[in-house]
Amino acid sequence: MTATATRVLVLNSGSSSVKYQLLDMRDGARLAAGLVERIGESTSRLAHTPLATGGEKRETEGDMADHEAALKAVAAELAADGLGLDSPQLAAIGHRVVHGGLEFTEPTVIDDAVLEEIERLVPLAPLHNPANITGIRTARALRPDLPQVAVFDTAFHTTMPEHAARYAIDVATADRHRIRRYGFHGTSHAYVSRKTAALLGKDPSEVNVIVLHLGNGASASAVAGGRCVDTSMGLTPLEGLVMGTRSGDIDPAVTFHLKRVAGMSEDEVDELLNKKSGLIGLCGDNDMREIRRRIDAGGEDGERARLAFDVYIHRLRKYLGAYSAVLGRVDAVAFTAGVGENAAPVREAAIAGLEEMGMAVDADLNSQRSDEPRLISPEYARVAVAVVPTDEELEIAQQTYALVSA
Ligand code: AMP
Repeated sequence: MTATATRVLVLNSGSSSVKYQLLDMRDGARLAAGLVERIGESTSRLAHTPLATGGEKRETEGDMADHEAALKAVAAELAADGLGLDSPQLAAIGHRVVHGGLEFTEPTVIDDAVLEEIERLVPLAPLHNPANITGIRTARALRPDLPQVAVFDTAFHTTMPEHAARYAIDVATADRHRIRRYGFHGTSHAYVSRKTAALLGKDPSEVNVIVLHLGNGASASAVAGGRCVDTSMGLTPLEGLVMGTRSGDIDPAVTFHLKRVAGMSEDEVDELLNKKSGLIGLCGDNDMREIRRRIDAGGEDGERARLAFDVYIHRLRKYLGAYSAVLGRVDAVAFTAGVGENAAPVREAAIAGLEEMGMAVDADLNSQRSDEPRLISPEYARVAVAVVPTDEELEIAQQTYALVSA
């Protein structure tokens, strides 16, 4: 790496999509960002925004048969702005990898052995890791000489103590099949817990934080002195909070019942719990804005939306209580991601009546909008309640850059 190499390209490869951002690590500035969708279909689409030049978003439609074609199209867009993959200013590519198992506790420079290890983890994340691997392979083929770093969604949670990570099932069976609670959204929980400590003017080692990452996927974590001690997602991202389309916590016997009594297949149960449950299952909408609009409009339809909202909030409050007990002392609760950052009624309802636990929300502060981390609790409250926008791309870029510039 040359001294002038200060840029990091962050790639988040899904099964039919690639999200990317190019950042300059001198100041974290975004130089370009974009998204390729429907890879493998005739209607693939690339939307590229050249942020460095302040140019307009450019959209191209075409036939991107695979990830290689998609990444080549991204490289061409970047090159058109003078930011091509062959630039000596590019220091590394950082890849989001969903599952790092117990093997990967830190961001890791990718070589053949690391790639093999990520492949060995495919059975634990059959939908996600294969797409991440394809993205890595393609990027390595395009720039074989450039350091490529894997940043794992599970890594931040590998500090969970054994008693939090274990399911209470037969140990031999669990170990043979690597069944345990891994947790996800780790990059966001790491970033937000650190930012929350900074907001309080403290070092992360000094504070205990409950992070509520509430997006379309949602998870809570208990972070003690900068280390994760519990998180709500488990073997897969299905466990825990009520999400946009996922049920979160459920009696596992519901699945036997659906198979034995309702006659559903394994795949149908999987689809029901992952895609047709949560908010969308309860009321037909997974967007919190639409749910609030329906509640405000009232009537029978509003009642249905209200039930979905209430189930969502009830689960959230259970986790607040549980993680208060896990941590013993809570210094801050941080709301983040699409719902957490934007939905004031969710924050208000989640904290309402918790003064005995030291938690309160100031209505005025809660209703103000900002992209900056901010406190929404009144001064008298013992626990700081905060809204802390997450930035997974910046965190991936920072971890990548720290590793390759060390
Ligand atoms: P994410 O997965 O973090 O991108 O979050 C996406 C979700 O955030 C959407 O499905 C909405 O439910 C929610 N969301 C985004 N903007 C708002 C808003 N202004 N008010 C309420 N909810 C929002």
